[in-house]
Amino acid sequence: MRKAIELSKENIENGGGPFGAVIAKDGEIVATGVNRVTASCDPTAHAEVSAIRAATSQLNTFNLSGYEIYTSCEPCPMCLGAIYWARLDKMYYANNKTDAKNIGFDDSFIYDELDLKPSERKLPSEVLLRDEAIKAFERWTDKDDKVEY
Ligand SMILES: [Zn+2]
Repeated sequence: MRKAIELSKENIENGGGPFGAVIAKDGEIVATGVNRVTASCDPTAHAEVSAIRAATSQLNTFNLSGYEIYTSCEPCPMCLGAIYWARLDKMYYANNKTDAKNIGFDDSFIYDELDLKPSERKLPSEVLLRDEAIKAFERWTDKDDKVEY
């Protein structure tokens, strides 16, 4: 965790937000990530997602079971989702989402949106061409050599 915190501090001077993350196994760091949203013009370049991308690339796997993530701040819904999708075994965090909100990184509206029906959310959304899109799902179901995850 101290490494994640150190990264979060250094990143302020390197043009990013104050967030750092580390992925480790048995106490050995295998990958790190920092927030590069504004520096990379990438709204998904949060520290946790960046660390997951670095780890999976280095380890050549999409499954990080057996590994743990240390993040300097409680993850946003996107990163929490990514942590679940990566199958990480455990998460540790230092600052919490209220600490983040207090310095201008408020993701509580996304957590609030998740509790609403799509029709009640701030993001307008509607269903289009499901009968055409479902054909890809049918093709996937029929595929014999797919890699499941
Ligand atoms: Zn995030």
